[in-house]
Amino acid sequence: MVKTSHDVLRFIKDENIELVDLKFCDLYGTWQHLTVCSELIEEDSFTSGIAFDGSSIRGWKAINESDMVMIPDPGTSWIDPFYRHKTLSLICSINDPRSNKPYDRCPRSLAKRALEYLNFTGLADTAYFGPEPEFFLFDDVRYSSSNSTTFYSVDAVEGGWNTGRIEEGGNLANKVLLKQGYFPVAPNDTLQDIRSEMLLTLGSLGVPIEKHHHEVATAQHELGIKFAELIAAADNVMIYKYVVRNIAKKYKKTATFMPKPIVSDNGSGMHVHQSLWKLGQPLFFGEGTYANLSKTALWYIGGLLKHAPSFAAFTNCTTNSYKRLVPGFEAPINLVYSQGNRSAAVRIPLTGLNPKAKRLEFRSGDALANPYIGFSAMMMAGLDGIKKQIDPGSSFDSDLFDSKCSDNVPTLPASLDASLEALSKDNDYLLENGVFSKDFIENWISLKYNEVQELRQRTHPYEFTLYYDA
Ligand code: GLN
Ligand code: MG
Ligand code: MG
Ligand code: MG
Repeated sequence: MVKTSHDVLRFIKDENIELVDLKFCDLYGTWQHLTVCSELIEEDSFTSGIAFDGSSIRGWKAINESDMVMIPDPGTSWIDPFYRHKTLSLICSINDPRSNKPYDRCPRSLAKRALEYLNFTGLADTAYFGPEPEFFLFDDVRYSSSNSTTFYSVDAVEGGWNTGRIEEGGNLANKVLLKQGYFPVAPNDTLQDIRSEMLLTLGSLGVPIEKHHHEVATAQHELGIKFAELIAAADNVMIYKYVVRNIAKKYKKTATFMPKPIVSDNGSGMHVHQSLWKLGQPLFFGEGTYANLSKTALWYIGGLLKHAPSFAAFTNCTTNSYKRLVPGFEAPINLVYSQGNRSAAVRIPLTGLNPKAKRLEFRSGDALANPYIGFSAMMMAGLDGIKKQIDPGSSFDSDLFDSKCSDNVPTLPASLDASLEALSKDNDYLLENGVFSKDFIENWISLKYNEVQELRQRTHPYEFTLYYDA
């Protein structure tokens, strides 16, 4: 096992590694990278870092203060399977060279501060996160001879897709119909081998893997990875997306984690299972209570439900996120909790009487969330709940997609601007011990509000349907 900087340096020698690829996550949840000759990596690189120009990274430094350094984490190394030359990959956090302190806007450093805060509160010492990112695989139009598979044409979205067909021509045999993708065998399921390759590749990179399957929507998929501690879980989401996208490309397809690419079918979410532990003991189990939840778990849920409209600005951080959050597509908008009921934002999975398996699942977020920021924000909300003993009220076990049942139930904001508004009003719980800074939140609101404005100013394809002949 490669764990320390010493191990990495020895591995580079023993395996004749020529190149080292340094990857870091920007604010938007995208990996950026720089490749260096392996001789440049020394013991010192793991403390003083490797310099780069931070001014071109969206939402970071201005040009007059552009120098930044990447600090590689030696516990995150793997041989990158998508490069021809043998290259060791390392995940980095970002330091500001002026202070040699973690850069305030580095998401991975923010997650480290969140964990320090968790320990500081004394409430717990370990937070486990089990994310489930969903995605679509579409034919890459660059390789397609006909443009009938162009999924973003108005016709494809409003017409062809409604019949449940992926391709034009032929009959409906062996096709996955709308909302019927979960989960008939081949030949309906045509992408078994791609998913297997994605899952096994993840396993070979050290991500603990469990399963894969077709998802409910046409062309929608999910790979199951095991829960891990907060930062490792966020690193795993980054590796997951990287592997999914690159293997899709190998098969002349593209993968998208966009929450709602097809109007009339399910969108893609990223459910996140969560639990807290202290001194090796799980804190969320309480025997004989509703869903066997401890008081700590109930308060954590109380915090999640109270602050969800605000942290949605991180967990549902795009304008498209809110097109997924509509009734009827398994994407919960109701801020309640329930055992088993998948129309509640917080579901308590049935785990029997095993205290170690007791966890809750926040189901509203999607995979365009930056995992470091999203997981940290949810944990901060949960911790606020525990500290203030926020009562989540009673559970809600009827189907909330049925409008008669959902009257008077609090809901998530209906748009990104409404979430940004909620974040600007409710953020004290994030500022504890400087985990998030005021500057971080203001910068986020301004970057994201720009997206709202950019979209608002654009003519939408559906406006042609509504107004062209009006
Ligand atoms: N795709 C659904 C969502 O948007 C979830 C479907 C499922 O995993 N049961 O959250
Ligand atoms: Mg799942
Ligand atoms: Mg799923
Ligand atoms: Mg789930």
